[in-house]
Amino acid sequence: MNCLLCQQPLRSDWALAQLLSFKPLTLSRLCAQCLAQFTPIAAATACPGCGRAHSPKLCADCQRWRQQGYALLHNRAWFSYTPAMKAFIQQYKGLGDYRLHEAFADQLQLPTRRTALVPLPSEPGHYARRGFDPVIGLFGHLPLALWLKKADTAMPQAQKDRQGRLQTPQSFTAHLPAKLPPHVILLDDLYTTGRTLYHAQAALRQAGYQGTITARTLIR
Ligand SMILES: [Zn+2]
Ligand SMILES: [Zn+2]
Repeated sequence: MNCLLCQQPLRSDWALAQLLSFKPLTLSRLCAQCLAQFTPIAAATACPGCGRAHSPKLCADCQRWRQQGYALLHNRAWFSYTPAMKAFIQQYKGLGDYRLHEAFADQLQLPTRRTALVPLPSEPGHYARRGFDPVIGLFGHLPLALWLKKADTAMPQAQKDRQGRLQTPQSFTAHLPAKLPPHVILLDDLYTTGRTLYHAQAALRQAGYQGTITARTLIR
């Protein structure tokens, strides 16, 4: 198997140790050099709200949500939005290179016991243009609960400035199954202002979900 980014053959001498650990086996799809281009977020110094790197106190975005009367949504992210990560997202989402959906699968591991993993879906228009849902692609190795639907909004999120993103109206609706687990983890690719995740949280509450809601994003 070759690295998804540089196409060099992947070394597999770690495989025996992983096999013997009896953990679910998810193969690494990036070589060590390519993985080292990305910057993991250290949990100890991340914002206690949104998981932003190097923000041990509640960051400005989280303080604003709180001032606006929202219950703080606890998010944790794996990586910072560095130039290398921007380039990855541009190739994956911008150019629609679906091969990359597995790039971080071995990193993106989450608890599933008594927990629904709820991805934030694409707008139908974006899905039609791209041919795949980027968030479901990234987290597709996990059992996903497809409870949320998204309506088309007037302007693509990527073309909006910061203020435009914050003013985006609610476009999610939630359809809950009869039997509900006590925990939900919302999944998204990128936490920018938090607007999208706060909308998703509100849609679940509106539909009557009363358990705990947290979030995990690939990038903050
Ligand atoms: Zn590589
Ligand atoms: Zn924050």
